[in-house]
Formats: sequence, C-alpha cells, structure tokens
Amino acid sequence: MAGAMPQSRYDTDVAIAGAGPVGLTLACALAHHGVRFRIFERKPGPSQDSKGHDIVARVQELLQSIGVLDVIAAKSYPSLDHQILLDGKPLARVDLRGSGSPFEACLFNSQGVIEEELTAVLDTRGIPVERGCEIRDIAADDDGVSVTVERTGDDRRSERLRCRYLVGADGVKGTVRKAVGLDFETEPMPDRATRQVDARLSWQRSTTFDQAWFFLYPGGLAGVMPVWEGVHRLFFIEDEKLVPDRDPTLDEMVARAREVLGDPTFEMSGMVWASHGKFEHGVAPGYGVGRVYLAGDAGHTTLPIGGQGMNAGMVDAVGLGWRLAMTLAGAAGPAVLDSYGPERQGAHAELGDEQVRGFKQLMYRSHLADVAVGAVASLVPNLAERVFGGMDLTQLSVAYPDSPLSEDHGPGTLPLVGKAVPAGARAPDARLVSSDGADTQLFDWIYNPDGMSWGWRLLMFDGRETEAHPGLARAAALASPWPWVRPLRVLAEPDHDAGGIDGEPFLRDLDGVAHRAYGLDGKPTLVLVRPDGHIAFRCDATRPERLAAYCRTVGGDA
Ligand SMILES: Cc1cc2nc3c(=O)[nH]c(=O)nc-3n(C[C@H](O)[C@H](O)[C@H](O)COP(=O)(O)OP(=O)(O)OC[C@H]3O[C@@H](n4cnc5c(N)ncnc54)[C@H](O)[C@@H]3O)c2cc1C
Repeated sequence: MAGAMPQSRYDTDVAIAGAGPVGLTLACALAHHGVRFRIFERKPGPSQDSKGHDIVARVQELLQSIGVLDVIAAKSYPSLDHQILLDGKPLARVDLRGSGSPFEACLFNSQGVIEEELTAVLDTRGIPVERGCEIRDIAADDDGVSVTVERTGDDRRSERLRCRYLVGADGVKGTVRKAVGLDFETEPMPDRATRQVDARLSWQRSTTFDQAWFFLYPGGLAGVMPVWEGVHRLFFIEDEKLVPDRDPTLDEMVARAREVLGDPTFEMSGMVWASHGKFEHGVAPGYGVGRVYLAGDAGHTTLPIGGQGMNAGMVDAVGLGWRLAMTLAGAAGPAVLDSYGPERQGAHAELGDEQVRGFKQLMYRSHLADVAVGAVASLVPNLAERVFGGMDLTQLSVAYPDSPLSEDHGPGTLPLVGKAVPAGARAPDARLVSSDGADTQLFDWIYNPDGMSWGWRLLMFDGRETEAHPGLARAAALASPWPWVRPLRVLAEPDHDAGGIDGEPFLRDLDGVAHRAYGLDGKPTLVLVRPDGHIAFRCDATRPERLAAYCRTVGGDA
C-alpha cells in the first residue's frame, strides 16, 4: 500500500460522537495505536450512572490489549461464582473457572467508575474529552465527513470540523445513525418492567463482594450483585403492574426483597443510585456506511439478560480501533474497514436473538415449567447457561467465520489431535516456554506483537514435524513485504536447530499444549492472528503462497 494518508485537508483523522463507556474505550484504543482523533460529549460532565457494572472475560482480554484493563481492575470486585435459585432453593451454579481465558473472573464495578478510569487514561496522555459539545449536521462524502460541533453550555460557539472518519458512539438515542440511514425500530418486550438500586447490603448470605445471586420466583427474577465501593445492586424484573413508573425507594426494594428472597433479615442502606424502566430490543441494519461507523448502544438496544450491552459495545470499540489505525497508516486495503460492519452487526444480531430467547424463558415462565425444571435440575447439563437462553456470558465464543477477513485452508477436527479452531474464532491462549527459557503465555505474543499495536501475529506451528522447518522459513520470507505480519515459530519438535530463522525468537511447545489448543498436533500449519486476537487465516505450512495471497488481499501489493 502507499504510505500514510496526507493530513492537510482534515482537522482530525477520527471524530468520536459520545463519551460513554464505548466512545471512551474507542478513544483509548486510538490513543494506544497513536491515531489522531477528537472525542466529543454532549453532556457537560461525566456520567454518574451505575448501569453497566460487569466486565466479562473476553472484554477484559481486549481491554488488556489496549492497555486499560489494569486501571479498571484496580477498581473492581472479581467474582467467579454466580448462584441461581428457584423458589429459594439452589438450582444451578455458574462457575467461571476453566474458561480458557487468563481473566476468568467477571469484574464488577460501576459504569461511572469505568468512564472515570478511561477518562483518566486519556488525561495521562494529554487527550481531552471535549464535554458540553454536541455533534450535529453530519455530511459524509467519499473523502471524509463534515460535522458541526455545537457547544451546549453558556458559550454557544459552534465549529465546523472536517475528519476522515466519524464514529457514532452516541448511545440509544444516537443522532449519527439517523443521519446516515442506519436507524432502526425497537421491539418492546411487553408486560414486564425493572427497578434497581445500588446500596449497602446485609442479609443471611455472604456480603463479601465475590459472588452474585439470581432468584427465580413466581412471575419474576431478582438479582443481588457486587457493584463498587462497598455497595451491592438489587434488581427485580417482574410484572409491570407491580413496578411503579418512577425510580424506586429503598424501603420498597427492601420490602419486596424480603418477600421474594425469603430472607426476613434482608436490609439495605445508603442508596447511591436508583433506576427503573421497561424493555425493548433492536439492532441497526448495518454498523458502517462509507466513512461513518457505529459502536455500542448507537447500533443496538439490548435486553438486560446476562449484562452484555456495554460489554458488546466495548468489543465494537476495540475492533474498530485497530482497523482505523491500520487504514490510516496506509497499510490496509478496503476489506479491513469494510469487515467491521458485517462482523459486529452479525454479532449483535446473534446476541439480540439469544437475549430475547433468555428473556422469554426467564420472564414469561409458567409455574408448571418451574416445577418441571426444579425436578430435573441436577440432570440437565449447563443448566445455568440454558436458563439464560444458551448465552455465552463471557463472550469468549464470539467468532466471525463469515467475515470477509476470515479465510481457512487449515485442517478440520482430527481424532486425538484436539478441536480445530477455524478462521474467525478467538485464538486460544496456551502456556509455553520462550526461546530464552522463560515460562510464557501465548497471549503475550499475540497481542501487540513485537510492540506493534496493530500488528498481526503469524503463528507458525511445526506440527512436531522436523521437515516442516523449510516451509516455515519460506512462509516468513513470503510474508516479509507486509511488515505488520509478525512471524513466530511454535515448535513441538525437541531437537530442531531452534536458532532457526536468523536467530528470531520462537516458542517451545514440547508438550504440545498450544498445538492441541489449536487442533494442530502433527499438522504443520500457518495461523495468522488479527490485532484483536481472532484467527484471520489458516493454511498448511507447505502452501505459504496462500498466505502471501491473503496478505495481498488484506494489505494490498507491498
Ligand atoms: C439500568 C441499566 C443497567 C445496565 N446494566 C448493564 C450491565 O450490567 N452490563 C452491561 O454490559 N450493560 C449494561 N447496561 C447497558 C449499558 O449501560 C449500555 O450498553 C452502555 O451505556 C452503552 O454505552 P455507550 O457508550 O454505547 O452509550 P452511552 O452510555 O449511552 O453513551 C453515549 C454518550 O453519547 C452522548 N451523546 C449522544 N448524542 C451525542 C452527540 N450528538 N454528540 C456528542 N455526544 C452525544 C451521550 O450524552 C452519552 O454520554 C445497562 C443499562 C441500563 C439502563
């Protein structure tokens, strides 16, 4: 590809409308990649809303990849255990251990804290969140996007801004999607409403902030979960006739909890947040048009099942961040940005279907169904996931097999070898030994490979075959015209002259842990992993010309 794009005609490369958790995550991603951008927020100050308060495993992996997980984790309660009870009796347990992610625990905090921490990361980099600034009058053309930035405070000055790309991270009522023809209708889930409070808790169960409980009772669902700074959240979803159309008082919530949780000692004090609402769901018909993209609630209205809305938006943000960086650096063909829309629209549509299934299953239950489930609970595998509509609450299984960026010529699942992990799937982690003899995790080599924030890691598995090595060397040489492809050998064969390719580092996998995790023992294979940790491409190591053709499709002629 040609070099980076000239700067002159543009005030900035990327403008972000909205500084909720998703806009801020995108801003942190772009800062991590060194992209020039500005972020605008209509409200004058940071939001104090508690709302989204869980960060699931896959999202933690992605936040780690852009260097912001530690600051959020430092202000979160980790939880590995979620209990599900039916009519006061234990029904199922969600145990998050063994998910395969280095971040097994769900992190509980509050959306206000997440926004504060992401803003602080930008602050340390000298990047302001421009608050009291509304984006309007959007005009997109083939070369860029023009917007008006209208100051919303006493100073009503406005600025006309020209950028290469605009991202609407402007929430459920977003104006960006309407301006570019991506608006959507939402569908209500009738007869049910929710109310919730964050407050200090005392009851007969544990008050340590490392567990969450979900109580199914006739006609309803209640939950008790950690938030942050010593408070828990209590919520109810039930018949709308029982839920006043206003924020609840703490006394009302405590009284209802005593009724349905069967704990007369239940008490809460020091309420810090209250909210109520009804339910709607919907997904935008696309996540991008020309140079305008959507991220987060701007493109979806989610149901509260499984606490996935903010999480899915953060996945959007990280996925868009590396694509914009690579494109602005002049290293990407159109396929890179074009793949964002179909991937994320598809993922949101799938999540929406699962949530609707989970919501119907949970919220319109008959008493007979409860009795039946209670009777067979111990016999039903994965009951907890089934209760939530079959949803993967960690988002670790989100995959893009049909993405324009996914191309697979690798082996299928073979007996005894391990399950094949095809193009589009999340690349698994594994414990290995580095060429200098230290224990290491594969993830540390996949994300930000060789310090290149939007680099793609080419994992070259020898498949425990000595004769694979010339093919691996040839693959590295064929990929060298595309410097964003960072080759790394993963060697299961013990006696190979590991000094190998010009003394480049490599990883030892003598016990075949990584080979099995990728389903590749005995199969020398090239696996190209994208900056967001999804497998982009696989082929037999004897066919490296296929890799070169793929790199040309993605990055153009080198
Ligand atoms: C009660 C409740 C509980 C929830 N719990 C969870 C949970 O447990 N887990 C979870 O994952 N999700 C949860 N969610 C969902 C979560 O809150 C949202 O998914 C999340 O806020 C989406 O973030 P966002 O940045 O996309 O949008 P928002 O948070 O809505 O941020 C958008 C921002 O854009 C600004 N804006 C709008 N228009 C403009 C404009 N034209 N110019 C500039 N700025 C603009 C807005 O002022 C706003 O600050 C919950 C939601 C609710 C209501």
